[in-house]
Amino acid sequence: MIREADDTLTIYERSKPGRRAFVRPELDVPERPLDELLAPELRREEPPRLPEVAEPEIVRHYNRLSKRNFDLDTGFYPLGSCTMKHNPKLHERIAALPGHARMHPLQDPSQAQGALELMWRLQEALGEIAGLPHVSLQPSAGSQGELAGVLLTRAYHEDRGEHRTKVLTPDTAHGTNPATVTMGGYEVVKVVSDAHGNVDLDDLRAKADEDVACLMLTNPSTLGLFETGIEEIERIVHGVGATLYYDGANLNAIMGICRPGDMGFDIVHFNLHKSFTQPHGGGGPGAGPVAVSERIEPFLPRPQVVRRETGEGNGSRDPFYDLDHNRPKSIGRLRGFQGNYGVFVRSYAYIRSLGAPGLREASETAVLNANYLLAKLREHGVAERLPAAYDRLCMHEFVLSGEPMRRELGIKTLDLAKRLLDHGVHPPTVYFPLIVEEALMVEPTETETKETLDRFAEVVAEILREARDDPSVAQNAPHTTPVRRLDEAAAARRPVVRQAM
Ligand SMILES: *Cc1c(COP(=O)(O)O)cnc(C)c1O
Repeated sequence: MIREADDTLTIYERSKPGRRAFVRPELDVPERPLDELLAPELRREEPPRLPEVAEPEIVRHYNRLSKRNFDLDTGFYPLGSCTMKHNPKLHERIAALPGHARMHPLQDPSQAQGALELMWRLQEALGEIAGLPHVSLQPSAGSQGELAGVLLTRAYHEDRGEHRTKVLTPDTAHGTNPATVTMGGYEVVKVVSDAHGNVDLDDLRAKADEDVACLMLTNPSTLGLFETGIEEIERIVHGVGATLYYDGANLNAIMGICRPGDMGFDIVHFNLHKSFTQPHGGGGPGAGPVAVSERIEPFLPRPQVVRRETGEGNGSRDPFYDLDHNRPKSIGRLRGFQGNYGVFVRSYAYIRSLGAPGLREASETAVLNANYLLAKLREHGVAERLPAAYDRLCMHEFVLSGEPMRRELGIKTLDLAKRLLDHGVHPPTVYFPLIVEEALMVEPTETETKETLDRFAEVVAEILREARDDPSVAQNAPHTTPVRRLDEAAAARRPVVRQAM
């Protein structure tokens, strides 16, 4: 009997005592006992439990794992709200330059002028895109940008001697919005949506009072719709002295076309890993910088990256890039060091290689692609079973409702999503926003070809046709992936990451 290669073993199960990837050369200096070099209390009591494997085994292990996952370099990834656009490979080469990749975060500013200049220039560019002049790069995710925004709002009100208690969020808001509000010590007050998918202005008027610190808004909203009442929203919120916070996750729809600052927002976060091409989705590093108006600026996190012009105590004739710690009203530090620097390099490379007209074109194409795909799905007769939740021109994404499909064909949005995997397509976002029954949220992005969009529409139509004949195929999908339907709750609560050695 020939044993089958077992590709389900963990790397710990592959371990054999004494097996190794390389052999160290003989010492060419006198050996010294470890005790001389490191105090005993700094040393571990037992050797670390690391797998002992040969180099080809290591390579094969990670190569095997990489093929079991679905990623953007494998296929279409229309995951709504997440902007899974192509990440240009040029950015990787720039981020890997030794001057970027090998910089130490504790290096003195005088030895890190290039890195600080890049960060300063990125701040300037993001400020221009947001229409708000002051930027902090510190927050490391959109959600941490939100937390920064809520803390900035609190600092702003308290500086004026006001103690407000509530923050408004629409019922379409991303889950991080209410979570952030709660973490920031405020009470969440939900504002409902009207029949067209906009913020219900009457409900907003009724709930906006002098206890409200802030309205957090995503525009275009998570329904992929532009808030037509944005000017009135601004008047209502500022009318009661509250701040207006812009959740920038959907910035990919409006870059270079309109600016949150011009709409009246006080604070904006960016998701550099969404709109500005940082690879994400596998838990990789992100960045959620915030841009703010003049009145919020004194409270920005500390330190700020600043440019000191010639003569400002700077001996040289060149400007000097520095970290400004002298910010008495600052909300303080949000993290160690300055942020995920590699993300800044990639995003700056993206902004500079596209330029202002290119950013605008990216957003226009993102919106065009979404509307094209929505029209294509209608053309394939999908709209009857899977109609758009709101019959409007969409922005860079759209939300469908699988409720008629569930009722008439017996397959749920989850089944459709799982069946898409068998066709080599990553499922769109499902069951969000919460106000749409059996929601399916599709964001094609600007970097996909017409042929890819056409194929997606054909695949969805085919899955609905197949369900009419035999719903069990989708109900039991996926059929072709390394694993079938996982118990996601158990996987999160009791993950098996290593076996006993
Ligand atoms: C992704 C997203 C967030 C949170 O951003 P993270 O970078 O994932 O923390 C917030 N709001 C919306 C609408 C999003 O899509």
